[in-house]
Amino acid sequence: MECIFCNIIERKLPAKVVYEDELVIAFEDIRPQAPVHTLVIPKKHISTILDIKEEDNTLIGHIFQIAKKVAREKGIAERGFRVVMNCNDESGQEVYHIHLHVIGGRRMHWPPG
Ligand code: AMP
Ligand code: ZN
Repeated sequence: MECIFCNIIERKLPAKVVYEDELVIAFEDIRPQAPVHTLVIPKKHISTILDIKEEDNTLIGHIFQIAKKVAREKGIAERGFRVVMNCNDESGQEVYHIHLHVIGGRRMHWPPG
């Protein structure tokens, strides 16, 4: 199985890592859509939201805690930011290893494109 995010976790691919612990890693998106665009991913390979199991609930909560921490450290927590996880083709999911996009530093639009 070739997964670019698993390769980043294993340091087989470079990334600008901003946070890491035993469960998750956070790194800068290679094609940022805003002044802040960081991805928070579980180290466990989970392909899509549809593959999240009950036993992953703590892990999923944890990635939100780290998204919050990233937003605070990047100085966008109070002004506002967006957290997005795409699922499957029509959402635009490109990498099939779940990841939270933490996006901010500019005004967001709604509805999203
Ligand atoms: P999604 O479309 O939700 O699957 O998001 C995938 C995201 O991963 C996109 O925003 C890409 O820019 C980003 N991405 C793809 N490859 C890399 C990489 N090697 N390092 C950092 N970000 C990446
Ligand atoms: Zn993976």
